[in-house]
Amino acid sequence: TVALKDVMKVFADGTVAVDRVNLDVGQGEFMVLLGPSGCGKSTLLRMVAGLEDPTSGAIIMDGELANDLPPRERGVAMVFQDFALYPHMTVGENIGFPLRLSGVEPQPRAEQVAEVASALGIGDVLARKPGQLSGGQRQRVAMGRAIVRRPKLFLMDEPLSNLDSGLRAELRAEISGLVRELGVTTIYVTHDQAEALTMADRVAILRKGVLQDVGTPTQVYGRPATLYVAAFLGSPR
Ligand code: ATP
Ligand code: MG
Repeated sequence: TVALKDVMKVFADGTVAVDRVNLDVGQGEFMVLLGPSGCGKSTLLRMVAGLEDPTSGAIIMDGELANDLPPRERGVAMVFQDFALYPHMTVGENIGFPLRLSGVEPQPRAEQVAEVASALGIGDVLARKPGQLSGGQRQRVAMGRAIVRRPKLFLMDEPLSNLDSGLRAELRAEISGLVRELGVTTIYVTHDQAEALTMADRVAILRKGVLQDVGTPTQVYGRPATLYVAAFLGSPR
């Protein structure tokens, strides 16, 4: 679980990117962080990952204060929009890389890679290099590499925004299916309302660094907390 208590980020130039956010993400929950460009989504995610220090407030992971934990000790895996695969390695080697780093032997490594790859529908391209894949396949490889070590927390920052709409819809279903199957607690960042409402267990809506509303898709769409949320989601009046 993750709990954010009054988390704030003010950059050196005075920009308030995240303004006293309180948010709980439950075990195994798929939380979508939704809001327009510049509202502070990536900054918030980076603070959870430990890539950015909060100016004030607490980040609590599994009940422990995590503010001073380095990223590698947080048990998080992160996938970005501009995911970087290792071009000289095969798909199998890319997915297995985190396992190799942590000393997993070749045989169990191959088995775990095969399992994740088949769940992501890329079991048949393990021997290819990233340059020989489609964009959607590359994104699946990045996802596989992030999740192969079974992180406690899976963070995704607009992972589908570089893909065409057909592929986005396909991968949406696939991602939410996969993380639910694995039971990994997930925070998924997007500015796409449809994506948020179709994928989330709960949606957290951010505007100019301030959390506006948190709830199930039905709740935030049907009973939006503010006029802003209603307008942003296009809720019926
Ligand atoms: P997008 O959807 O475009 O990715 P976002 O919601 O992820 O936007 P952030 O990247 O978190 O937004 O940025 C939040 C605010 O903080 C923006 O106003 C941005 O310009 C500002 N910001 C981000 N990084 C820095 C920085 N290093 N220094 C100063 N301001 C920053
Ligand atoms: Mg961003």
